[in-house]
Amino acid sequence: MLLSVIVPLYNEEEIVEKTFLTLKEELKDIEHELVFVNDGSKDKTREILEKLLADAPNYQLINFSRNFGHQAAFSAGLQHAKGDAVVIIDGDLQDPPSLIHEMLEKWKEGYHVVYAQRQKRRGESLFKRFSAFCFYRIIHSLTNIEIPPDTGDFRLMDRVVVEQLNNLPERSRFLRGLVCWVGFKKIGILYDRAERTAGTSKYPLRKMIRLAIDGITSFSTTPLKLSFMVGLLSTVIALGVFIWSFLEKFFSPETTVPGWTSLMAAIVFFGGIQLISIGILGEYIGRIYDEVKQRPLYIEDKK
Ligand code: UDP
Ligand code: MG
Repeated sequence: MLLSVIVPLYNEEEIVEKTFLTLKEELKDIEHELVFVNDGSKDKTREILEKLLADAPNYQLINFSRNFGHQAAFSAGLQHAKGDAVVIIDGDLQDPPSLIHEMLEKWKEGYHVVYAQRQKRRGESLFKRFSAFCFYRIIHSLTNIEIPPDTGDFRLMDRVVVEQLNNLPERSRFLRGLVCWVGFKKIGILYDRAERTAGTSKYPLRKMIRLAIDGITSFSTTPLKLSFMVGLLSTVIALGVFIWSFLEKFFSPETTVPGWTSLMAAIVFFGGIQLISIGILGEYIGRIYDEVKQRPLYIEDKK
């Protein structure tokens, strides 16, 4: 049995050597390979890794030509990993490597996906915790896939799951969601997330929002269909307004400005019609979107 550990890195020169040594030490009794994905770092990460890997021929280093992002780095790692079990871990040691042993135990018990669930999030700002809390709840209510709350990308996956992920042709990849989508037997283990010991977070607000939008749009077409509901509602209101302005015209003609009734009727009616039409378009665009993603209709576990 071979274990692959994928480590995405972006500008981590302060900590990459420590990560390398910690992982190597932690896994010394297990047959393993480390797959480093250097996501276009602008600092010395690449040089340090090349030096470290010079005498570790069974480790891999994939260098990107520029910064393509965390999710792209995982996808590259998953394509190159050869292991029967594959672990994804952040390169800043915030995810404790010692947890990998526990994950392997669960894997040997027959689980295909073992994800690490954060119990405590040390060193994260109130804003980050609050936004993460909201994000998991929003995605839960908008989509029908169950992403367990407070899980990052730190997880172990069996070969069968990795193969399924590699075969999905879609381009905007929200890995956490896709892993849930492909199914198979899953279990979570709790852990305390440590603080970053060196360097700074490579996830500014801009990237977090991008990730959240990717996550929601790749698993839900609800936002597209929203205007249909709003359109229906406003058509009903339009009818009410129309009746009201009509009655006004007859019962108090002296206070009603000429032309008001017909103007009101036209505005509210066409507003409603337009929103409904956009909603219908949304319904079709949602379907086109589902088709272009080319996800398989179903995935078999065992026949
Ligand atoms: N990372 C990456 N590409 C990016 C941003 C981040 O490969 O564009 C890596 C980063 O080097 C780290 C991991 O993804 O190993 C998690 O990033 P970070 O620790 O900054 O995220 P946080 O823990 O703050 O959510
Ligand atoms: Mg981190």
